[in-house]
Amino acid sequence: MPGSVQYRLPPDGAGFENLFLAGDWTRCGINAGCVEAATISGLGAAKALTGANIEIVGEGDIAPDAGPTAAAKLDSPYAQTAPWPLTPFYGVGQLDGFFSFHAVDAKELEKSLPKGMSLHPQALTPQGTHPVAILANQQIGVRAATLPRFTGYRNYFEAITAISYVQIEGQEGAFTYLPNIYLNRLRPQLAGVWYYGYNKRIGQLTMSNDRHTVASAQGTPIWSAKYAQRDFARPLTQYDTLGAVHRLAEQVVVSKNKFGHWQYSNLDFSLTSAYVAGIDVEIDVHDFGLSNLPVGKMTAQPLRQTTHHAAADNHLPGAFRIWTSWTLSNPFDSARIARLEASQTRL
Ligand SMILES: Cc1cc2nc3c(=O)[nH]c(=O)nc-3n(C[C@H](O)[C@H](O)[C@H](O)COP(=O)(O)OP(=O)(O)OC[C@H]3O[C@@H](n4cnc5c(N)ncnc54)[C@H](O)[C@@H]3O)c2cc1C
Repeated sequence: MPGSVQYRLPPDGAGFENLFLAGDWTRCGINAGCVEAATISGLGAAKALTGANIEIVGEGDIAPDAGPTAAAKLDSPYAQTAPWPLTPFYGVGQLDGFFSFHAVDAKELEKSLPKGMSLHPQALTPQGTHPVAILANQQIGVRAATLPRFTGYRNYFEAITAISYVQIEGQEGAFTYLPNIYLNRLRPQLAGVWYYGYNKRIGQLTMSNDRHTVASAQGTPIWSAKYAQRDFARPLTQYDTLGAVHRLAEQVVVSKNKFGHWQYSNLDFSLTSAYVAGIDVEIDVHDFGLSNLPVGKMTAQPLRQTTHHAAADNHLPGAFRIWTSWTLSNPFDSARIARLEASQTRL
């Protein structure tokens, strides 16, 4: 099965001291079900079980799997790791935002995906539904990293709909797709559309301490949200749900750019230095065509410090207000980001 090698267990590493594994399905150096794999793993199991110095013919033909090298461990899709001459050029900004995660009808979501994109299997939400993140932010000091702060865009409001776990035909990996981003300032809208292929649209947005509303440029209501803060702000690192938030909020973003090509970008929300506070969320979606979401109510519970699932089959993290700074990868770093994501699903 492509992309499944990481789930194979080695003959001498079942996870139990007194259990050894043999079979063509083990992690024996050959990613195929064949007699060679069965034999090598059988000898590997015998060696581990007896401690005897058994020669495994053919084993040396395969590069030893000593795990990722330090270079591979350090390689990441983040903006600052782009190769020269792309390295210094990336986007930075700060945000004060509301992040919530919802299980949304999968069939409805599929309608907003471009050709060649489909929903990726995932185990976070009940069958027939799929995870969507709603990020409603005030953006502050957004600019290219090399520029001084005062040259940045004026502060603006921005509302992002993010469909997590999508896949692209012929490309390994699980990505996030942003069917729509509404914002109320023209320059960052144009930059997003032309540099990153984002579906950024101008809209009428308002944001206060407990509300966010989004309407089209003509004033048609798209969605509005009520937020109730339930907690005081603390570092996100104090939450053991940080990992779940990271997996959803920082999944590599895929978009179809102006030239019809897939483009990959990475938003790093500096989650390990972010402050968050749990919030109750109630979102009223008014318009399917403009929001790419089913019309009706969506709710979310506050993020908890210890892992808590809203239901046995709903593993989404709770909602929170977040104060953080972010970086956005260089638009010309797309191919490397796609390769890194693909390599995570391979050996
Ligand atoms: C049609 C076909 C053609 C193939 N052609 C080739 C080829 O040309 N070249 C090649 O290299 N490979 C080929 N293979 C693959 C090769 O046969 C397998 O990779 C190899 O047999 C795997 O060996 P194994 O010991 O890991 O598992 P298996 O040979 O499947 O052995 C597992 C054994 O465990 C037994 N078992 C299962 N459950 C239990 C239980 N609960 N209690 C007790 N016993 C149990 C099963 O009955 C079986 O005998 C082919 C496979 C198939 C199906």
